[in-house]
Amino acid sequence: MSYQVLARKWRPRTFEDMVGQEHVLQALIHALENQRLHHAYLFTGTRGVGKTTIGRLLARCLNCETGVTPTPCGECSSCQEIQEGRFVDLIEIDAASRTGVDDMRELTDNVQYAPTRGRFKVYLIDEVHMLTNQSFNAFLKTLEEPPEHVKFLLATTDPQKLPVTVLSRCLQFNLKRMTPEHIAGHLKYVLSEEQVPFEEPALWLLARAADGSMRDALSLTDQAIAFGNQKLAASDVSNMLGTIDQRDIEKLVNALVENNGPSLLSEIQRISDFAPDYSVILADLLSLFHRVTMEQVVPGSVDNALGDAAQVQTLARQLSAEDAQLFYQAALMGRKDLAVTPDARMGFEMTLLRMLAFRPGTDRREPPTVSSAGQSGSAESRDEPDPAPAPAGQPADPVHSAPPPVAELSQPEPEAKPEAIPESAPVPAAAPMPEPEPEPEFEPGPVPEYLAEADPVHESEPRPQPPESGPEPTDPPGTTEMAGPEPEVAEPVREPEPELSGEFVWERDFRSLGIVGMPGNLASHTAFTRDGDDILLTMEEGHARLLNARHEEKILAALRNHFGDTINLRIEQGETGGKTPAAWEERQRLARQQAAESAIRNDPLVKSIVERFEGRVVEDSIRPVQGSR
Ligand SMILES: [Zn+2]
Repeated sequence: MSYQVLARKWRPRTFEDMVGQEHVLQALIHALENQRLHHAYLFTGTRGVGKTTIGRLLARCLNCETGVTPTPCGECSSCQEIQEGRFVDLIEIDAASRTGVDDMRELTDNVQYAPTRGRFKVYLIDEVHMLTNQSFNAFLKTLEEPPEHVKFLLATTDPQKLPVTVLSRCLQFNLKRMTPEHIAGHLKYVLSEEQVPFEEPALWLLARAADGSMRDALSLTDQAIAFGNQKLAASDVSNMLGTIDQRDIEKLVNALVENNGPSLLSEIQRISDFAPDYSVILADLLSLFHRVTMEQVVPGSVDNALGDAAQVQTLARQLSAEDAQLFYQAALMGRKDLAVTPDARMGFEMTLLRMLAFRPGTDRREPPTVSSAGQSGSAESRDEPDPAPAPAGQPADPVHSAPPPVAELSQPEPEAKPEAIPESAPVPAAAPMPEPEPEPEFEPGPVPEYLAEADPVHESEPRPQPPESGPEPTDPPGTTEMAGPEPEVAEPVREPEPELSGEFVWERDFRSLGIVGMPGNLASHTAFTRDGDDILLTMEEGHARLLNARHEEKILAALRNHFGDTINLRIEQGETGGKTPAAWEERQRLARQQAAESAIRNDPLVKSIVERFEGRVVEDSIRPVQGSR
């Protein structure tokens, strides 16, 4: 597999190659052209935005044999050696691993000596905030008065942790997080050059998942190419990341706008096949409604950084300001509720139903009921069972009269607190909210209870009781209809199974842990060993590279949820020997495929067709029936 290839191959070779950091580059180019160089530079910014890349480029600019220049030749031996990481006068130190005073002493002692090969001795110190206080002290003196031939290039994700004495001696550049638009644009360029076929929505999915880091975006793209068999289809990338693409978000929102309950539920049903991270979808919705409000309040203010400008503008016209506020507030509450709902999909569905049911308006009570009758009569969508729309619309009428909750909810707290906005929502503070009058918070209290009252009514309807005496909370009003006749819904993916019969077998039972999204994808590529409370997951290099602390947290939470709170988790890089859930599933899939193919080949009807019409079975077209295991 060619993991890392893209990130390494497309590492910028010149300032011009760098994407999205023009403000920093401009200043550096200017300094280089005018030979007005500072002796210490500090590059700050989140991971993967190009801090050390800029450092290495700068080292080349300073040491290129053609002279100090913003456009190093790339040909001379200095340029080449720096590129290959073997230039003696570029000393790279990862402070995260070398924190000892002695290391710093060694560095400061060596500073005195003139460069061996180049013009300047360049010290590139990454994660410089990790140095101990003692190390800082040892370093500070040198930083104060370095010899002429020395340049310090410091990089950190966390400048707040640097002593003021260090900050004040450096020229600081803050590298920006890459916008999804920048990343998607760059991926498009790279993939075209690489001649890898792609669907544009797949690029946006990757760009959003990369969370501002171009390096992560390229690594994810590598993985997606392997996952999708040398092409990038949006559905594959959705599956890999556990996210859904913009078109799916659009369909959900359109159903809300049109007040179309059946279509909303069937969209949720379809999306759930991807086992997405519902919290991420709600974050996407939050971001969307935020942008819609921005566009409503300040027309023309929305950019295309997320690739959805057209949609935002349309929605800004279609939705009332009240609707946008209510949807935003409901998504915000829903995100909090997700943490405590027994089943993530239920929580998600409830959130969207809330948006639909409590949308302010005159005749909003009517449509869901009416359309549900029409829908069941026409029976036009098979995977949309009759009772589906009921929880959305009906409970309102028989139990209470609608107005009180609607009136309460139609004026959500206008001052949406910026700190409550998830990090994926850009520019959170900027949204000007109309009429900042203090109104009661959007209380989750009355709504769920209210809808919950409908549950017994719903329960009493003729619904086949599932054989397993599952825990009550798995039968929410929104999901009951999903437990219907469709076999594929019974996949163990999101079925909370507190007690697995018998021993937990990692490869086989992994899905029951319910780890979704990227953490789930990565965990599914690990081998499992357990010694008492200590769980060790072994992961191959290509995947280990993509792992970050947030992923680990989610994996640990799921393991603790299953095995108990005393579980410790260690994730190591190493050989898995095919003992991973992903490999197991692939073997299962192959077995099912083979069984299906042989069943088709041996089917008497197929045989006779083949014989009579000289037909041929296109094996690629055979798909095993899902859930038939
Ligand atoms: Zn050169």
